[in-house]
Amino acid sequence: MSFFIYENWQAGPHKVVIHHGSCGHCNDGTGRSRGNYDRSHGDWRGPFSSLDEARRTSASIPVAVHNECPCVGRFESNGQIAP
Ligand SMILES: [Zn+2]
Repeated sequence: MSFFIYENWQAGPHKVVIHHGSCGHCNDGTGRSRGNYDRSHGDWRGPFSSLDEARRTSASIPVAVHNECPCVGRFESNGQIAP
């Protein structure tokens, strides 16, 4: 189990989003396109072995917006990311 942070500066405010590695948006840090994404617009950080570690790292990144994908909330309430 691992978590990743997606940092994006393409559209809107510079932001970071935490995902679980098995989330469809994350794919263990390769993104929806499984690695074929434009690195001039965003980048993945991780893996982080715990949600706490991912949150601490996210909080230390000086960007305007810190978000968490709904997959993180599902993992916290269910222990898995399936709805
Ligand atoms: Zn996600």
